[in-house]
Amino acid sequence: QQLAFYDQLTGLPNRRLMSERLRYGIELGRRENKRMALLMMDLDRFKAVNDNFGHLAGDELLQQVAKRIQKRLRDVDTVARLGGDEFIVLLKDIIHVDDAARIAEFIVNDLSQPFQLAQSDNVQIGASIGISLYPEHGEDPELLIDHADTALYHAKDAGRGRFAYFSEELTIAVRERIELETRLRRAVNNQELRLYYQPQVEIATGKIIGAEALIRWLDPDNGLIPPNYFIPLAEETGLIETIGEWVVYEACRQGKTWMDLGITDLTLAVNVSPVQFRRCDLNELVMNALRDTGFPAARLELELTESGLMENQEKVVGILNKLREQGIRLAIDDFGTGYSSLAYLKCFPLHVLKIDKSFIDDIPQLKDDMEITATIIAMGKILGFKVLAEGVETLEQLAFLEEKGCDIYQGYIKSKPLPADDFLKLLIENNTLTTIR
Ligand code: C2E
Ligand code: MG
Ligand code: MG
Repeated sequence: QQLAFYDQLTGLPNRRLMSERLRYGIELGRRENKRMALLMMDLDRFKAVNDNFGHLAGDELLQQVAKRIQKRLRDVDTVARLGGDEFIVLLKDIIHVDDAARIAEFIVNDLSQPFQLAQSDNVQIGASIGISLYPEHGEDPELLIDHADTALYHAKDAGRGRFAYFSEELTIAVRERIELETRLRRAVNNQELRLYYQPQVEIATGKIIGAEALIRWLDPDNGLIPPNYFIPLAEETGLIETIGEWVVYEACRQGKTWMDLGITDLTLAVNVSPVQFRRCDLNELVMNALRDTGFPAARLELELTESGLMENQEKVVGILNKLREQGIRLAIDDFGTGYSSLAYLKCFPLHVLKIDKSFIDDIPQLKDDMEITATIIAMGKILGFKVLAEGVETLEQLAFLEEKGCDIYQGYIKSKPLPADDFLKLLIENNTLTTIR
């Protein structure tokens, strides 16, 4: 068994065992609709080590390489030695296409660190990795291996010490995403994130009664970057946990600063990503932020999306009830674009319903949108919610919303999202406040 399926030098599975695991993995992937990645790798400058220090040194190096690769993998993954300085890794059950490249980058980086061998204590090599994906790049073992091999040649061609996918577009797209991720991590550490505030106006009185906090990334090279560019990636990589925590704290801190100036009746709305529901303890986060900043719970509103609510209904209802008990207000964002299920409006403890901008855009040109908007307003009011219209840009839209009994609006017609200082000026002007301490 040992001789037939394992490599004697490194103790890793050999080509035969890898082929079997790959075949089995494909069967399972087909049945359970899962994605896998095959990483074909060879070492740069391995020949030089053999030539300069002898075969014993080469053998020792291969053993250490095997250990470093294994360290990066999960139990379900397989690394095999094909012979010479060629290794192959099978990653099972990966969720995002990018994940394969992330692991490849870790391996390339690990293998670029110096090795300590008996013959020499500072041996530098490198590795290049070619990646093929099941099912994207093939559905049988031979094809996947062939394509990973082709990708490996691309990687070496492009200058070694890097990864390449079988498809060049994919390589480019994933490299860009990984670079953006690195920059975003740096942005978080370097405090390049900002909150802008967009006023929420009570339609009956024209008074600003709240603001939505909207994140911006102030990149030293590229200027102000809007959230649609980086929030999806932050969600994919889990970075949204750190960012989301910062947003809640920063909004509460700013809210408290304004309270201390005498502005006591402003509600601040913060966007919560569905990923935060899944991965963080939202209750604890909010409780800590309120306690540490001294901002009152009743002035904080959390904006949730329909998809976030639908994912794990029972757990979500539990979280929301606790938030509500703390005194926090809850809003449903972009209403009308997701499930828009009446059942959840009834079973989730919500306060505010935000009608998505896409329904407001074509008022008064599109009769259907006007009907839908009027119906959402009527329904929201019957169910006891405050109804807010997003993205109001024209007087006609505003007049229509007023006629239909909408409570609050947000939109460029009043103001774009503003930095905190500018928002304060607008607030004082608009609400003719003179009580600022
Ligand atoms: P959203 O929560 O639906 O925010 C409303 C978006 O509409 C904002 O875009 C706002 O600037 C824009 N908007 C408001 N009024 C108008 C208008 O009259 N005309 C037009 N054309 N646009 C208007 P923004 O700031 O680019 O944010 C986009 C999305 O990014 C947000 O949609 C929200 O889903 C997400 N986002 C923003 N900040 C955060 C955050 O701190 N955390 C999370 N998880 N997501 C955030
Ligand atoms: Mg929002
Ligand atoms: Mg919205």
